[in-house]
Amino acid sequence: MSFKITRRAAATALAGVILFASKLVLAAAPMVPTQAPAYYRMMLGRFEVTALLDENSPWPSTVEDLFPKLAEPLKSALRKRTLLQPSYDFSTIAFLVNTGQRLILVDTGGLGSSPTYGQLFANLRAAGYRPEQVDDILITHMHPDHVGGLSDGAKRMFPNAVVHADRRELAQWQRAAGKGNTTAKAIVAKLAPYVDSGKYQTFDGDTELFAGVRSRAAYGHSDGHSFYAIESEDKRLMLWGDFVVNDKLQFEQVDLDPPGEKDMAAGVALRRTMFGEASEQGYLVGGAHFGFPGLGRVRAIEGRFVWVPVDYAALNLPAVK
Ligand SMILES: [Zn+2]
Repeated sequence: MSFKITRRAAATALAGVILFASKLVLAAAPMVPTQAPAYYRMMLGRFEVTALLDENSPWPSTVEDLFPKLAEPLKSALRKRTLLQPSYDFSTIAFLVNTGQRLILVDTGGLGSSPTYGQLFANLRAAGYRPEQVDDILITHMHPDHVGGLSDGAKRMFPNAVVHADRRELAQWQRAAGKGNTTAKAIVAKLAPYVDSGKYQTFDGDTELFAGVRSRAAYGHSDGHSFYAIESEDKRLMLWGDFVVNDKLQFEQVDLDPPGEKDMAAGVALRRTMFGEASEQGYLVGGAHFGFPGLGRVRAIEGRFVWVPVDYAALNLPAVK
């Protein structure tokens, strides 16, 4: 009987040993299907700014949904140039500003609009705050994804906060609700718990609301759409609401009107003005639907505008031990 081992048999045996050993060493750990808490914090002069994600989901799932009037071949050219994927996730972001004197929330996310909205509350807590600490809420405009988090039925989700908005904004939705518009009725209902308890205040266009916090009329997307300029120690952040909703396509193509834009001509004119101003002055910008955390700057390159998101930066605080 021969015990002669062929080269092939030896190779097969060796491969078996290696496979066995690799299974022992590289046993696959179960995947962890969760994301990090979705807040991002930075200092703006002496103010603390925290971006809070309320929702991130594949809506609208395509460029066609987001900009239905966008015609070929511009659509495919834009997609190609911006590397925007045919299907992508849409973020909804609110911004929390701690001035040291007041805790101010700009917009509230879309609680109640769909099951995926309302994550702002978990992210607010993860960021170290509680809803009852919020002193003031500034509303850029009253589309459901910006006022949804204000209330749940008759309950004020921010029980100690006063809500502020341009005087044109709620009036617009009250008129539409009076004509039977169901979306407008839902919007008015979101504001009602604050209006009814004397915790709703209006301003008229450009107004200094608090030290370092100003509203700026940006009408077009809705009747009372407002920016909020946050300033501390010569650092400025301009919170833009929804006059731009996509940071890749709309900087490339200022004529694209976002969904729900009421006055398209005003929107286009405002984008031209604001992109120019932001790129010249170099201030920070916050977009409610940009890629999270929605903070960055605008750069002008040979007549075109480009969005430059902030880089992740650790805060200059003592290390946790
Ligand atoms: Zn929106």
